[in-house]
Amino acid sequence: MSQHVVPVTEIGRSRPAAAMAGLAAMPATGSLLDRLQRPLTDLRISVTDRCNFRCSYCMPKEVFDKDYQYLPHSALLSFEEITRLARLFAAHGVHKIRLTGGEPLLRKNLEVLVEQLAELRTPDGQPLDLTLTTNGSLLARKARALKAAGLRRVTVSLDGLDDAVFRRMNDVDFPVAEVLAGIEAAKAAGLGPIKVNMVVKRGTNEQEILPMARHFRGTGVVLRFIEYMDVGATNGWRMDEVLPSAEVVRRIAEEFPLVPLDATAPGETAQRWAYEDGGGEIGVISSVTQAFCHDCNRARLSTEGRLYLCLFASMGHDLRPLLRGGADDAQITSAIGHIWQGRSDRYSELRAQRAPDVDAKAPRRVEMSYIGG
Ligand code: SAM
Ligand code: SF4
Ligand code: SF4
Repeated sequence: MSQHVVPVTEIGRSRPAAAMAGLAAMPATGSLLDRLQRPLTDLRISVTDRCNFRCSYCMPKEVFDKDYQYLPHSALLSFEEITRLARLFAAHGVHKIRLTGGEPLLRKNLEVLVEQLAELRTPDGQPLDLTLTTNGSLLARKARALKAAGLRRVTVSLDGLDDAVFRRMNDVDFPVAEVLAGIEAAKAAGLGPIKVNMVVKRGTNEQEILPMARHFRGTGVVLRFIEYMDVGATNGWRMDEVLPSAEVVRRIAEEFPLVPLDATAPGETAQRWAYEDGGGEIGVISSVTQAFCHDCNRARLSTEGRLYLCLFASMGHDLRPLLRGGADDAQITSAIGHIWQGRSDRYSELRAQRAPDVDAKAPRRVEMSYIGG
C-alpha cells in the first residue's frame, strides 16, 4: 500500500456508544427527533467494505489496491447482530432499510440476512421497506433468491451504456451487458420498481445522459442522475467535475419535455420529473448544488457496527462493544436514542458557506465504500 494511504479502519474514528447507554434510559417511542427536528426513518446498512469494481469516484485503484487492508471477517457484524440492531432501530421509527457496501452482493449468503430482516415489523406491525443498492454485477445470479428471501426492490448503479465508457468508469473492465442482464433479471424476479443510479462526472460520462434516458424511457425503470459528490478523502473531487442536476434536466428536456412531480415521501433525496408524453419518470439527486439536509432522515451503519449520522462524517458511534459486551436491548435502544437526539449534522448545507481551506484542516472523512451510499 502506498505510504500516504491510511486504512479505512483507522480513518473511521469512532466513539464507543457505551457512554450513551449509561445515560438516562430512553425507551423507543416509534419516533425519534434530532436537534433539528428530523425523524430517524431510514437506515443504510453496509454489509461489506469490499467491492469488485474500482469506480474512480468511490474506490480509486491507486488507493484500493491489492495491499489495501479490508476489515477481517471477525470485525464485521454478523447477520444476527445486524438484525438485532435493525429491530431496535425499527422500534425507534426506522421503516426503511437499504443494504449497501462496498458491493453488498459480495457478502456470502446475503439472502439469509434478507430473510431475517424481512421478519421485522414497525411498531404498528408493518413490514419494513427492505431494499438494496448494487453495482448489478452479480444480480443476474442472485435476483431470484433475494426476492424469495423477502427483498422488495433494488437500485442498480450504472454510469453509462457505452461499453467502453462503462468499463472505464468501473475500472475493472466489467462489461455493461452483464449489468443490463442483472437489471432484466431483477425485473423478472419482481424486484421493482427498479431504480438505476447514474453518477454524472463532467467530462467523463456526461455524453451518456441522453442515451441512458432514451434506453430506460418507457420501461418502468426509474433513472436517477446523481451529482458527483465530495465524499471520502480519496477520490480527488473537484467542483468543476460536477455537472449540476439543473443542466441534466435541461439536456433531457430538450429532447423529451419534462414536468416536475411532487415528492412521494418526506426526506426524499431525488427531485422527480415526468416525461410529458407519459414515458415514465426520472429523478435528480442534487447533493452538491441543492442540499437537502433540512429533512435528512438517514443514519448509516458501517460494516463493523459504527453508526454515522451523516455521509460526510469523520466520526462514528461504535455500537459493536455494546453488542459484544453483553448490553441488553434497553441499553442499546437508549444509546441509539441519545445519539440521534444529539445530531445536528448538515454538511451539504454548510459546504457552500465554507472557506476552501477549512476542509483541508477538518478531520479525515470516512469513505463511501465503508458506510455505503
Ligand atoms: N456498490 C454498490 C453500488 O455501487 O451501487 C453500493 C455501494 S455504492 C457506495 C452506493 C452508491 O454511491 C452508488 O450508487 C454510487 O454510484 C454512489 N457513489 C459512490 N461514490 C460517489 C460519489 N463520489 N458521488 C456520488 N455518488 C457516489
Ligand atoms: Fe464499488 Fe459501488 Fe463504490 Fe463503485 S460505487 S466502487 S461499485 S462500492
Ligand atoms: Fe444528510 Fe449529511 Fe447528506 Fe446533509 S450532508 S443530506 S445531513 S447525509
